[in-house]
Amino acid sequence: VKVLGIETSCDETGVAVYDTAAGLRAHAVYSQIELHAQYGGVVPELASRDHVRKLLPLIRQTLAEAGLETAGIDGVAYTAGPGLVGALLVGAGVARALAWALDVPAIGVHHMEGHLLAPLLEDDPARGRPEPPFVALLVSGGHTQLVHVAAIGRYRLLGETLDDAAGEAFDKTAKLMGLPYPGGPQLAALAERGRPGAFRFARPMTDRPGLDFSFSGLKTQVLLAWQGSDRGEQTRADIARGFEDAVVETLAIKCERALDAAGCETLVVAGGVGANKRLRARLEDMAHRRGGRVSFPRPAFCTDNGAMIAFAGALRLQAGQHDTAAVRVTPRWDMASLAPVTSE
Ligand code: ATP
Ligand code: MG
Ligand code: FE
Repeated sequence: VKVLGIETSCDETGVAVYDTAAGLRAHAVYSQIELHAQYGGVVPELASRDHVRKLLPLIRQTLAEAGLETAGIDGVAYTAGPGLVGALLVGAGVARALAWALDVPAIGVHHMEGHLLAPLLEDDPARGRPEPPFVALLVSGGHTQLVHVAAIGRYRLLGETLDDAAGEAFDKTAKLMGLPYPGGPQLAALAERGRPGAFRFARPMTDRPGLDFSFSGLKTQVLLAWQGSDRGEQTRADIARGFEDAVVETLAIKCERALDAAGCETLVVAGGVGANKRLRARLEDMAHRRGGRVSFPRPAFCTDNGAMIAFAGALRLQAGQHDTAAVRVTPRWDMASLAPVTSE
């Protein structure tokens, strides 16, 4: 089946067509970064309005790239939550209307299930796609979670952040050192020029058992180091490197613990921070040392995109699941409450 996927949970409009026979046919993302940059963060009402402006043109463009007419679509998947309620309603409204007009099923997808399944979206020619059971590390702008995946759709939370998400910590830390919004990727780029060990920050909550995280204290440590420094370019890069190493090391320690606790040797990583090069390299090393494996989406599918929603929706539609015609979104939504995906 060919599924149109629509993502509008926050500040990216993402559209894609996933074909269960041929794989990903086309995808496009429009980022609202410039719109929100002047405010230093996402302004929900502006986000909703920009999704309204961009969604239909992006759907037309993506269908054209896939070589499809709207009539060639067998189902529509959209992000139903979690996220900004207004932004979600734009995607849900368009998706439901389109499905109704085409007389095809529509399904609301959990945004974090989309992220979680992104590493399974594209085939790995050498190793094949990772298969459950596995442990997933979800590291995005709003979430830092370790999840045990017994089967697709069967998720058990092993641990999560008690305060800031990893991506949020990257963004806030970048901001306090004067980098423009959204600072996460820029902080990571700056860290490339930083000297390892010049600044050393704590690895929060790694000195006691458990799989939860806390990143807000790290931000304060960086602030103090930055304020007490010469605030030069090299110092900024050195602090960025120290911060990145602390986050990467903390995530790696907890991932290894989670694999041990779950008795798994497969780790999948998803969400925007999954694009971080040093995190990818560090987790590859760990997997190699253990004789296990770690899978990441390509960097563009770590951050928000329509492809992951089309893919997650396709798996559920293929299993016979779909929603009623009501336009409903779920801004707060626990992944453990999802129905398992079983296709017979
Ligand atoms: P959620 O999925 O939890 O609702 P979100 O959709 O806003 O949050 P994503 O789009 O998955 O989050 O990821 C965006 C986050 O990833 C931002 O916080 C950004 O700073 C961070 N990020 C992106 N690239 C990198 C990178 N190379 N290194 C570190 N952080 C990064
Ligand atoms: Mg975003
Ligand atoms: Fe996201």
